[in-house]
Amino acid sequence: MGGYIMQLQNFSVNDGEGIRTIVFMAGCPLRCAWCSNPEGQTMDNSMVHWMETEDILKELRRQAIFYRNSGGGVTFSGGEATAQPEFLREMVDALYDEGFSLAIETCGQFNFEKLEPVLRKMDLIFMDLKHIDPEQHRKFTGVDNAVILENIRRTSQLGVPFVVRIPSILGVNCDDAAMDGAFAFLRDNAPTASLEFLPYHRYGENKYKELGMDLPDEGFGTPTQEQLDAWKARAAEYGIHVVSYR
Ligand code: SF4
Repeated sequence: MGGYIMQLQNFSVNDGEGIRTIVFMAGCPLRCAWCSNPEGQTMDNSMVHWMETEDILKELRRQAIFYRNSGGGVTFSGGEATAQPEFLREMVDALYDEGFSLAIETCGQFNFEKLEPVLRKMDLIFMDLKHIDPEQHRKFTGVDNAVILENIRRTSQLGVPFVVRIPSILGVNCDDAAMDGAFAFLRDNAPTASLEFLPYHRYGENKYKELGMDLPDEGFGTPTQEQLDAWKARAAEYGIHVVSYR
């Protein structure tokens, strides 16, 4: 079997512990207005290709020495890492059996029952919380946040190290009401989760041009370090452990 991917990116250090390979998998159920990986939203564009699972595993095994020496491993990302669940499960099962350290970055919009066996084999799970308000979430991503909130709650109970990420975007979720709402939700529903803020960036603009897509809204912006520091302090007041892998 196999699936649709954008690329395997070796020597990454921002998406889990140690030196890692990121498997960028294609397809996504969301349409975030600020998306920096627009090529990952679909499986049928010029930046996506099919790869056999065994060919991916061979490449990952070639990198194993770097993972061993650094405490690193493989991180599944996207697009949305769970959008091809059978493909994901096939890779995860094989790598888990071979002792690889595994992490996943997900938008949280997935069927929990179907994904639970995969999540349980992870050493680290990253899940986004893009907006605590259902209508704002729908406005900016195309879907409300009911499934995502429930999946954050259930993932918190798995006993797997878990980081909830807030992509922090001026014009979307960088106001006190949105942040306080998110912190209160995490305190009450995901007490085992750590929190990471991901400040907005505009890195993906060339990809929009290459794919013939309209650029993200000019109104989006990056919070200042002072704003981020203030929210980190505020999150700590809720008893939330704040981390950074950047
Ligand atoms: S979840 Fe990620 S890949 Fe999907 S649309 Fe949003 S930012 Fe883009």
